[in-house]
Amino acid sequence: MSQNNSSTTAEHRESDQLITTDPGRGGLDDRDGHGGRQPRECVIESKDLDVFYGDTQALQSVSLEIPKNRVTAMIGPSGCGKSTFLRCINRMNDLVDVARIDGDLYFGETNVYESDVDPVALRRRIGMVFQHPNPFPKSIYDNVAYGLRIQGKTESLDEAVERSLKRAALWDEVKDQLDASALNLSGGQQQRLCIARAIAADPQVLLMDEPASALDPIATSKIEDLIEELAQDYTVVIVTHNMQQAARISDKTAVFLTGGELVEFDDTNTIFEDPEHDRVEDYITGKFG
Ligand code: ADP
Repeated sequence: MSQNNSSTTAEHRESDQLITTDPGRGGLDDRDGHGGRQPRECVIESKDLDVFYGDTQALQSVSLEIPKNRVTAMIGPSGCGKSTFLRCINRMNDLVDVARIDGDLYFGETNVYESDVDPVALRRRIGMVFQHPNPFPKSIYDNVAYGLRIQGKTESLDEAVERSLKRAALWDEVKDQLDASALNLSGGQQQRLCIARAIAADPQVLLMDEPASALDPIATSKIEDLIEELAQDYTVVIVTHNMQQAARISDKTAVFLTGGELVEFDDTNTIFEDPEHDRVEDYITGKFG
């Protein structure tokens, strides 16, 4: 898959902000075009990524490049490693004691598994939305303001909350009840609130693990519309078990099959209309999976 090779200064700064200790930078600075890694439009790149949970291998040598400001979908049968891949991107698998990761995963020019990368800072730049909406038992306002307060960014908090709720297509529904409990919102509203909470931290990437699978069709449709809109400003990576959803909203699709193998990664139209591999065609057409 070829990508345009253009990366902004801002993206370089993104990566730099993740380094918390003086890295000596050898490995990073070597990737500047002098025989090293080239800047490019891809935001996330995995190279030969293996993941094990104890003796179980969940991902096998996965290499792929996720393009900037696009929706990339991960599809495949249950247990094939989709969520594992997503959780590698912002090091959520660090929280799983038995998880072991080999290979490289780059965010911009930074290998996120370098020891000098701060996972908390990384997760601010790479936000995550889960299958079941998980608002805090606080007000709508406090949910969105939560991360900013922790970071001490309390200046213009009202504006930041409003901006995030607008970006998550929730403002009009909640602007008159910002002090009400987030737990009183509907499931679809709660999920959009979680998206607003992630957006408030000013991420570059949004990871979504089956974000609509617990929602009714109308709420699902709103989330799908929102995801397509968000891709104007954010790089979205979504795991979905719903192939029609992947076909509707994604630009790129990665097909994982049993054993954590990435079998095919291409434009979504190609995956659904003319896949290269028979196994992918069989999966897409429902012959197995
Ligand atoms: P998918 O998202 O495609 O359903 P997962 O990434 O959740 O697949 O799981 C891939 C494999 O890794 C499965 O065999 C699953 O049982 C295993 N696995 C996932 N999470 C853990 C964990 N925390 N501990 C042990 N095994 C896990």
